[in-house]
Amino acid sequence: MSVLEIRDLHVSVDTEQGAKQILRGVNLTIKQGETHAIMGPNGSGKSTLAYAIAGHPKYHVTSGSIVLDGEDLTQATVDARARAGLFLAMQYPVEIPGVTVTNFLRTAKTAIDGSAPPIRTWVKDVRTSMENLRMDKAFAERNVNEGFSGGEKKRNEILQLELLKPQFAVLDETDSGLDVDALKIVSEGVNRAKENTGLGVLLITHYNRILRYITPDFVHVFVAGQVVESGGPELAVQLENDGYDTYVAASAAAA
Ligand code: ADP
Ligand code: MG
Ligand code: MG
Repeated sequence: MSVLEIRDLHVSVDTEQGAKQILRGVNLTIKQGETHAIMGPNGSGKSTLAYAIAGHPKYHVTSGSIVLDGEDLTQATVDARARAGLFLAMQYPVEIPGVTVTNFLRTAKTAIDGSAPPIRTWVKDVRTSMENLRMDKAFAERNVNEGFSGGEKKRNEILQLELLKPQFAVLDETDSGLDVDALKIVSEGVNRAKENTGLGVLLITHYNRILRYITPDFVHVFVAGQVVESGGPELAVQLENDGYDTYVAASAAAA
């Protein structure tokens, strides 16, 4: 059974004023097939956690570790993390001018698997996944994220998720900016990956809305760079009703 372990993770980010400490000891254990939701106020460090797991060069792990199936990935390159089975869907996906969706996917798949996917099954897989996500065929020949609407960017990320078949995915506000129909389609894509490949998910979100479609096994409240409370799906409902104020106040009092 596959397991992703975040141990006492401290992360600082490079800013124009120098390094700034954002994560202050994050502990999370995500097993294969589990979905963990991270909920917290703006600026609490949720995206920083996502970037640190993905290996973004601006985010430095100052102590603690990221371990996947016993393999320490804390200092691994972005490529090595992807090959090990990690996937990040970013809050703000980047444009890749001159690279089409189809070429990007094939290149990424080849890099991750170590060999090019057989062309026939690959073309079929891409087509099926695009149909599942209700994406227009013409989409495949467009440059990655160039001129994509918010919803198209999110679908494109789930398309990558379906085809690259990672073991663990970090989804950073994948629900933001989606209308209900797109939210359902995107959630179905994540649920298919959970069923088909036992995907483990770290789902970062502001809203309980997406959790109606992707049921979390655990919900974690994130404040000031730490997990301050963990529970089941009922915690998300409580947060939606009561907000983060009590957690923010308790965290400030403890600091
Ligand atoms: P969240 O995703 O929870 O809204 P972030 O991880 O984006 O929070 O940000 C946490 C804190 O770190 C914020 O105060 C933010 O301004 C700061 N921060 C994150 N990334 C950078 C960066 N690249 N440069 C400067 N400050 C950053
Ligand atoms: Mg946990
Ligand atoms: Mg964020």
